[in-house]
Amino acid sequence: WLERLTGGFKKTADRLGENISGLVTEQALDTATLDDIEEALIASDLGPEASKRIRESIAARRYEQLDERGLRTILAEEIEKILAPVAKPLDVWGFPRPHVILVIGVNGSGKTTTIGKLGHLLQEQDYGVLLAAGDTFRAAAIEQLKIWGERINAPVISGKEGGDAAGIVYDGVKQATATGIDALIVDTAGRLQNKAHLMDELAKVRRVLGRLNPEAPHDVILVLDATTGQNALNQIEVFARDAGVTGLVMTKLDGTARGGVLVAAAERFGLPIHAIGVGEGVDDLRPFDPRAVARAIAG
Ligand code: GDP
Repeated sequence: WLERLTGGFKKTADRLGENISGLVTEQALDTATLDDIEEALIASDLGPEASKRIRESIAARRYEQLDERGLRTILAEEIEKILAPVAKPLDVWGFPRPHVILVIGVNGSGKTTTIGKLGHLLQEQDYGVLLAAGDTFRAAAIEQLKIWGERINAPVISGKEGGDAAGIVYDGVKQATATGIDALIVDTAGRLQNKAHLMDELAKVRRVLGRLNPEAPHDVILVLDATTGQNALNQIEVFARDAGVTGLVMTKLDGTARGGVLVAAAERFGLPIHAIGVGEGVDDLRPFDPRAVARAIAG
């Protein structure tokens, strides 16, 4: 899987490589070079905060000179320092059952796919999983969740298009409790065009859940599409403020040059990152390993 991960970040590493190329070959590591390195990191989507922090760490190391290999090694170390504090596997242990995971994010971010892959990941750890089709606005979303349910052999609870999401979630908790299911994973609508309505609906789902179990939802996972770069950061801001996000999953890290946005998100928001999506297949959700990812990004 490490090879797969490194392969997934290849374009990100190539972009970073292009940006830092030639910066440190002949010259001493002076202020101008440090400026160039900081700019190269910003151009690689790491964000101004993380880029500045890395620049300061490199400056504090007091190198006279550094070749490109050395720079990449240092970058991997510094990126790992930023990622390590937010790496947190999803923990669905604990009682009473079921552990409820709300999955939120804008349409197209990879929510439904992530739910299928996450269900599979939990099943591999011997947890029984129920999927709830809480995105009642799009018939296609309900259908797609059912397809994922078949693919991973997990039951799916759903209602009619246009139905009440909170009602489905209520039924989901009841069914999970009655059948001894460990984790209920809830898909939600993601139409940011009507943000007030979306947030109202999420609030209603939360109220219904809270009445069944004061600790639910246990997780509110925001799914982000890495290919949208800085836009993903704006989404974290909006959802963290209005929807009580407890953790992140970043998808589509395969085949994008913008994987550096993971580092920007970690530095700016400090929210737990549970896993990353590196493909469309059932096994393509990986627990977030900060060292492997840092090395893959630095190339
Ligand atoms: P939703 O609208 O948020 O539910 O998004 P979907 O789950 O339908 O995903 C939108 C598209 O992104 C689909 O074509 C997925 O197959 C694709 N997708 C989701 N996650 C990944 C990923 O990690 N890598 C790649 N390459 N594609 C992904």
